[in-house]
Amino acid sequence: MARWDRRSPGQQAKFQDAALARQVSENLAPFSPYWARVVRPTGIRAEQVTRVSDLAAVPVLGERDLCPDGDPAGAAQLVLHVTEAGYARHTGGPALRRALRRRLTRPAAYARQVQDAVRPVTYHLGGLAVPLPIASTREDLDVIARAGARAWAVLGLTADDLLVSALPPDGALTAMALPYAALGAGAPGVHAGLEAAAEALAVMPATVVAVADADALDALGRLPSAVHTVLVTTDDTDVAALAEHARVLRVWGPPDGRWLYAECRQGGRSAGLHTYPDLEVLETVDPASGESAPSGELVITQLGVRGSALLRWRTGAVHEGLLSGACPSCGRTVPRIGPEVRPGALVEQALVEGELVALDLRAAAGALAGRPDITGWRIRVQPEPGTTTSSVVVAISPTGRPRQAAAAAYADIQAVAGVGPSQVLIEEGFTDGAIDLTP
Ligand SMILES: [Zn+2]
Repeated sequence: MARWDRRSPGQQAKFQDAALARQVSENLAPFSPYWARVVRPTGIRAEQVTRVSDLAAVPVLGERDLCPDGDPAGAAQLVLHVTEAGYARHTGGPALRRALRRRLTRPAAYARQVQDAVRPVTYHLGGLAVPLPIASTREDLDVIARAGARAWAVLGLTADDLLVSALPPDGALTAMALPYAALGAGAPGVHAGLEAAAEALAVMPATVVAVADADALDALGRLPSAVHTVLVTTDDTDVAALAEHARVLRVWGPPDGRWLYAECRQGGRSAGLHTYPDLEVLETVDPASGESAPSGELVITQLGVRGSALLRWRTGAVHEGLLSGACPSCGRTVPRIGPEVRPGALVEQALVEGELVALDLRAAAGALAGRPDITGWRIRVQPEPGTTTSSVVVAISPTGRPRQAAAAAYADIQAVAGVGPSQVLIEEGFTDGAIDLTP
């Protein structure tokens, strides 16, 4: 089969189907009480999930479904509960054969192999409104490093590059995954935080610098002339103006995911973020209904990793739909996330009663959909004039008494999202439901 980034759509689909069937039958079905509970009402059995198209029957879920009361302890439910005996019973293929050979001759080595596969050894903090610890096992870290090595290649970097990262050591995805990307590529890196990064740049022959935004790059001062690449983790287009002679490329991944996607060196921003179709299934849903849609919320299903298991997981990021076909710049055939992706767009930091609070718009939509006391609803994110903040305004079209309907809608949003909207308006005469993000 062709290399990971040169496969035809047919080859990619075949690979994904097989990896998905394995992920469900070997990991999720036997070892996840949470997913068993989620999937049971749909009547689907693990052995029936043999293709990506079978996923459509599984509900999409996100952090608010996992932690309905806002308590991040709910995140523990995502972690697979694999035992040594269970591993031997459900794991297939070469890994199992290797383990079983060891069990006969070297029981300690067998136990270690199983532990490497199943026991969480690191966490990063995902989540948008709720801090969500995401677990990875020793073997997951190998996959994370492999994905990272690919990102490194997509960025046009090699093992000869030296990375100085000024990303904040905040435990978030980029802080976790970027060191593994350099490691996977065999490139040395210093992960220093902003202040120490400036010192590192003064004494080390860096060729690559990673920053969160233009302010961070500005704080580093003038870059040494050997720095030919600046990696940026946000969509801050001001970075390019400051980077002078260096190529500016974006790396990003959904905060609950485990690896970073990268722009290719040849195409940069317009080529979009290159993904890994053999490591995950990417889908797009309408954030209001959770149904498949051409543009909307990015949903991920990770394949071949244990630790926290993500199946049809809502990322809170909104995008224009995946770019398919070979990248016009680098020729890689992997699906690409277009440049207009908006991370965290569905959890708005909104001004409510004078305070900034994280409001999960998906949870609010869930509270409004299907209500008998309204015919239609809108959730609108509106910039507050003269400030950098927004408010979240809900408009409803009531069937009966408007004030009661508005009060009930407000109370239900508050119950499921942990916080009410900035305002509820009455607007007559519309019959559908939608989330309107700021353009
Ligand atoms: Zn490309």
